[in-house]
Amino acid sequence: MAIRPSKKFGQHWLKNKNVLDRIILTAQLKSSDRILEIGPGKGVLTQRLFTQAERLLSVEIDRYLCKLLVNKYGEVDNFLLLEGDFLQLDIRELLQNFPQFANYNKVVANIPYNITGPIIEKLLGTISKPAEKQLESIVLLVQKEVGKRLVAEPNNKTYGALTVKVQYLADCEIICDVPAKDFYPQPKVDSVIIKIIPRDIAQPADHPKFLDSLIKLGFSSRRKMLKNNLKSIIGTEELTTILDHLNLNSQVRAENLSLREWINLSNTLNSL
Ligand code: SAH
Repeated sequence: MAIRPSKKFGQHWLKNKNVLDRIILTAQLKSSDRILEIGPGKGVLTQRLFTQAERLLSVEIDRYLCKLLVNKYGEVDNFLLLEGDFLQLDIRELLQNFPQFANYNKVVANIPYNITGPIIEKLLGTISKPAEKQLESIVLLVQKEVGKRLVAEPNNKTYGALTVKVQYLADCEIICDVPAKDFYPQPKVDSVIIKIIPRDIAQPADHPKFLDSLIKLGFSSRRKMLKNNLKSIIGTEELTTILDHLNLNSQVRAENLSLREWINLSNTLNSL
């Protein structure tokens, strides 16, 4: 049975073998690794993963693809496939009968781009509620624009709330470009391979929950100055004094503050 790629599920099959090699190389697979893959599709990456790692757990939403994968790899005993929406599934609960697949230490995947943000959040957690178990590394194919946002530095137009939130929880690196022509059907956007390494931040925020909402509010209107975006929580004059103490100009915008400056601002506002 020929399976027509579904737009709804963001299906674009990777067809360049060199890119597969590069993903595998980036993940630095060891024979003791237990991997989670989101969106195995027809299984090109899947096969590489279960042959090189100790175990592979893959989660696929599309029932027809699940059937195809079971036909192809159903006999492989270090491979487990879960059918369902990665964002909705309670994986830990589902794996109670398969505990050997539960403690994955790495994620390697060519994911559906329409849910990149939520996938990263499910893997890393949030500033106020980081993931309980820190993964060793996460290697993903993502839309190039998103990759740029993840690694952005301050004073750059790609630097946004996603940047600050992810960089609080992890180090991110773009490994290489992957052009649209390396997929079938060809997506409208180019891609990159990214590597995300979760880590604890040195000197975390005193009140992570407050920092979380401060970032959201600060970036709520990108063109406005920070003092205008934060009006609902602090008066302009008072904020100007605080910014001055933090060596920041009163005209700054959210995109001008480094991660450390966001944390300092959050700590100061909180102690008022
Ligand atoms: N990894 C494959 C397919 C990538 S396309 C390859 O490289 O060729 C993205 C895949 O994610 C598709 O198979 C799609 O069906 C699946 N998918 C989409 N939404 C999903 C979700 N919410 N949970 C799990 N899988 C999903």
